[in-house]
Amino acid sequence: MDTSTPPPYDLLGVGIGPFNLSLAALAEPVPGLRTLFCDQRPEFRWHHGMLVDGARMQVPFLADLVSLVDPTSPWSFLNYLRAQDRLFPFYFAERFQLPRREYDHYCRWAAERLANCRFGTEVTALHWEDGLFRAELTDTETGRRSTARARNLALGVGTRPVLPEAFAALAGHPGAFHSADYLDRRDGLADVRDITVVGSGQSGAEVFLDLLRRHDDGVRLRWLTRTRALAPMEYSKLGLEHFTPDYTRYFHSLPAPVRDALVAAQWQLHKAASAETLAEIHDHLYERTIGRAIDTAPVEITPGTAVDDARPGPCGGLELRCRHTDSGTEHVLRTDAVVLATGYRAARPAALEPLAHLIDWDEAGRYRVDLDHRVATRPELTGGLYVQNAELHTHGVGTPDLGLGAHRAAVILNAVTGRTVHRLPDRTAWTGFAPPAPAGRAQPTPAVPRPQELTRAATVGR
Ligand SMILES: Cc1cc2nc3c(=O)[nH]c(=O)nc-3n(C[C@H](O)[C@H](O)[C@H](O)COP(=O)(O)OP(=O)(O)OC[C@H]3O[C@@H](n4cnc5c(N)ncnc54)[C@H](O)[C@@H]3O)c2cc1C
Repeated sequence: MDTSTPPPYDLLGVGIGPFNLSLAALAEPVPGLRTLFCDQRPEFRWHHGMLVDGARMQVPFLADLVSLVDPTSPWSFLNYLRAQDRLFPFYFAERFQLPRREYDHYCRWAAERLANCRFGTEVTALHWEDGLFRAELTDTETGRRSTARARNLALGVGTRPVLPEAFAALAGHPGAFHSADYLDRRDGLADVRDITVVGSGQSGAEVFLDLLRRHDDGVRLRWLTRTRALAPMEYSKLGLEHFTPDYTRYFHSLPAPVRDALVAAQWQLHKAASAETLAEIHDHLYERTIGRAIDTAPVEITPGTAVDDARPGPCGGLELRCRHTDSGTEHVLRTDAVVLATGYRAARPAALEPLAHLIDWDEAGRYRVDLDHRVATRPELTGGLYVQNAELHTHGVGTPDLGLGAHRAAVILNAVTGRTVHRLPDRTAWTGFAPPAPAGRAQPTPAVPRPQELTRAATVGR
């Protein structure tokens, strides 16, 4: 029996959501590059609690795992369609935005075929030892433990559902749950007479629309949101240039307080609902109230309403203490069930704790992330620690956007290998986000370094 230690991986990925899956797909064909990606789930699943019938992606199909970097990759969505013999139906459908269920199926198709993806494997702890990362792995079915060593790590552990403080007293209550669990819990709402959806992002709009379609006038449906207006997500062509590598580089160059203020101010770029879903809600209400006064449907849509406190009511049901943000007026709302479409937030994975003292956290306890998506660490940690979808505060609104996923994965791959595995465009937007250069001097846009110029010395064993 060979008892020698297996050679370290060049790159170990923790989590296989769309972002690390993209990195796995781009890394797999690179000759000599040893990579492994692990996910605790038994198979790829993409937000299964929100795969509501009819829900569509908010990005065009070209935002697949690879196409915006390498359209010739076998892991493109078009190649998936060819494998499924669905190219003609897709061609005639003329829809750029895929059904969300199809995107989930496409990613699972890739994940099942990529040799560097391993499911049913939780990464329970990460250490830095003898110049390498050592990951403790647990087989989630058998409980068997093993280890893997790697020169570089890519954390792609996603984000976690947010339960706002005001709802803390309802944690675990059968009548209250996050939209992330919507499909798993929806049947439990079948006999409920009064349902409240909180939050006006895309998930809130989709849940409210689904409830409208499933319930008749026998059920009161309410949609509350703190936001003052149900404004649609920015979707103009030039507005979408905020989701380009150009904007990401500009945003990264700003001082941290400016970046924090911008992310909050840009809610319409990343937190609102799509105009299409808002229109579908309006269409539904229009049809439903034909031939009668519009206020005869038991439906309430109230923006500008903050919930300050929520708890079980003394006589059953739930009580929400609400405050109208413009007038300051308070009222108590009694309802039977609450769906919290209150968003998601990046969280530090527990597996990272053994490394926490080696990370150079910022003043707010967040990662400092460079343009290569590498986390700043203490000098003694010389391996590359990369993050995907945990850098909203340093890279801006494009961080969770699938349209930037392949590009970010290619930036990481170029950095890990220390060479240009994928050539990336210098300019991706017409908008100039930085101020114009003083007269007689060149436009400063590429004053922000190009990703290729930022790549580090090779850290890959060749
Ligand atoms: C309902 C919904 C719809 C969205 N739709 C769009 C859209 O249309 N367009 C768009 O641009 N963006 C969309 N987004 C935003 C974003 O693209 C997605 O959230 C995306 O799934 C993020 O991918 P990820 O790889 O960061 O994480 P995730 O998809 O959350 O995957 C993370 C994975 O890490 C695994 N993991 C975590 N910890 C460990 C560990 N210790 N060991 C092993 N595995 C671990 C988890 O099991 C999970 O599978 C949507 C978000 C939501 C919530």
